[in-house]
Amino acid sequence: MRIHQLAKKLNLDSKEIIEKLKGLGVKAKSHMSSLDEDTLEIIKEEFKKNVPRKQKEKQKEKRIKAPLTVKELAAALDIKANELIKKLMTANIFVTVNQLLDKSNLKEIFGHLDYPLKIKVIEQGELLEEEEEKSKLTPRPPVVTLMGHVDHGKTSLLDAIRNAYVVGKEKGGITQHIGAYRVILEKGTIAFLDTPGHQAFTAMRARGANASDIVILVIAANEGIKPQTIEAIDHARAANVPIVVAINKIDLGDSNIEGVKKDLQKLDLTPEEWGGKTIVVGVSAKTKQGIDELLEMLLLEAEMLELKADPSRLARGVVIEGRISAGRGIVATVLVQTGTLKLGDIVVVDCYYGKLRAIIDDQGRGIKEAGPAMPVEILGLSGLPQAGDPFYVVTDEKKAKQICWLKQEKKGKERLTPKPKVSLENFSQQIEQKKLKELKLIVKADVQGSLEALAECFNKLSTPKIKINIIHQTTGGINESDIILAAVSNAVVIGFHIRAGLKAEELARQEGVEIKLYDVIYEAIADVKASLEGLLEPIVKEVVTGKAEVRQLFKVSKVGTIAGCFLHKGKIIRNDLVHLIRNDVVIYEGKIKSLKRFKEDVREVEEGFECGIGLQNYDDLKVGDFIETYEKEEIAQKLE
Ligand code: GDP
Ligand code: MG
Repeated sequence: MRIHQLAKKLNLDSKEIIEKLKGLGVKAKSHMSSLDEDTLEIIKEEFKKNVPRKQKEKQKEKRIKAPLTVKELAAALDIKANELIKKLMTANIFVTVNQLLDKSNLKEIFGHLDYPLKIKVIEQGELLEEEEEKSKLTPRPPVVTLMGHVDHGKTSLLDAIRNAYVVGKEKGGITQHIGAYRVILEKGTIAFLDTPGHQAFTAMRARGANASDIVILVIAANEGIKPQTIEAIDHARAANVPIVVAINKIDLGDSNIEGVKKDLQKLDLTPEEWGGKTIVVGVSAKTKQGIDELLEMLLLEAEMLELKADPSRLARGVVIEGRISAGRGIVATVLVQTGTLKLGDIVVVDCYYGKLRAIIDDQGRGIKEAGPAMPVEILGLSGLPQAGDPFYVVTDEKKAKQICWLKQEKKGKERLTPKPKVSLENFSQQIEQKKLKELKLIVKADVQGSLEALAECFNKLSTPKIKINIIHQTTGGINESDIILAAVSNAVVIGFHIRAGLKAEELARQEGVEIKLYDVIYEAIADVKASLEGLLEPIVKEVVTGKAEVRQLFKVSKVGTIAGCFLHKGKIIRNDLVHLIRNDVVIYEGKIKSLKRFKEDVREVEEGFECGIGLQNYDDLKVGDFIETYEKEEIAQKLE
């Protein structure tokens, strides 16, 4: 028997055996050396005595896979179910034999239960590093997403790559679009995800999936860096995904590649040829120039990332999109991240499950299995999953049913208790509870000057212990993309002289993201400073009481302009304080002068009704403006 074979048998490293042999006075050259019968016996004895200590220690830990029933738990612990129930009763935990226990239930139970072994609770489908036997990990292709400013050529580039490398030329047939595809090159394979921009990218992350390994930042050579380019950079950075830059449209006469590179340098994306770390490639989706180089660079970048997966395990991955097809029922495009997905597998997604009836690849062909980094369509789920939902294969239908049932219950509970997020008021407690080490901010302002001033002041507040990390800063109103980024990154959104759009506001409420709005720089700085020091004094907060949209204008002689409004939210009372908001920027602060319903003066108007509003000392109203009423309220610091 050779040393490496023995090592495998004893679950040891060859080196350990060679060392041991040395100690016994036996020389072994390498792990390929053979051992004679006698040495073999001696060494086996030796290792029985000493070395497998590591293994023994390992055995002291018992792994329990959640969820499972009380009966299953008892069996796993090698005791009778009614004994377990009795034991738990003494700890004031009351369960029944068939009751399902999830991870948190189990943690609670083991907190009270005296059990000789250490218990490790693993959630079904949860990927555990140690579970994945290192030897089974094999290299996998990279998954790439394109992001960038609108019209800079994301779709065109994806199409150009797809047409050049995917669509079967000999068939010339139309392949259906599944939102993701693979390019198979001589030097390697690349999977491309066709997600509609950085907002979708981060929304997917919000649902628990970081599907992309590399982001291609597409910048048009003639237009250069635009606000959404910066947004895309910040979203990629917040996700810790490396960026490869594709400067597109280099076929155009007015392209300025050097200019774009200079701007990239300012954004800390210094091109490699200038001594930086960022791969920058000039391409044209139109003439296909540079596309080969881009793909090559992607493979190079991927090589450095050393991406690996274990094709031998049950599959696990993420939903790219889900839809209902008239003929085929529920169709989900998924990306396999590890393992191999097989026909007939039981797949769980969110609170749905199903047995796979069909797996279809990016060329529309029915296939039997799909390995790591393969995007495929699957048929057979019981409900419509959403982009970003993780999926995983379980061993049997019963388990799938249990998991789905638990998830549904959990969902119900979550609806009642919104997720606690970071806020300026609770930041210091979160620091104390070691939940946070830095305060993440998204800063939005009306003009570049204020934005830079604010950011500089905030950055100066960082201390060696607590860092301020501005993950995104741009001018303009607070949009949904800001809120999603804040929700995923656990950041507070600071707005200066601007407001959030209606949809962003609603999303912030749903996600528990804090938006702090200021009109005075000093106040914003003071609040953030106080938050870091845990000294946030009771603050006078503006509480919005109503939000009306201007839909029509009436010029009334002697009275001035009356805005015909629709009250989206809350209530408006005559003499209320108001902000007038245009394109999410506050352009006037004052009071309501007159409030009317059908020409009648009224004291108040309720949500969902139309009304006429006149403002004190302000006439320059426009259709599409928002009139926001508010109260000043003193709010004590909350200690949750
Ligand atoms: P997206 O919004 O980023 O997906 O951009 P599109 O792919 O829709 O492209 C926007 C416009 O730019 C379209 O009219 C394209 O035809 C054009 N376009 C895209 N790539 C190139 C290119 O390399 N050269 C030229 N001249 N035009 C391009
Ligand atoms: Mg597009």
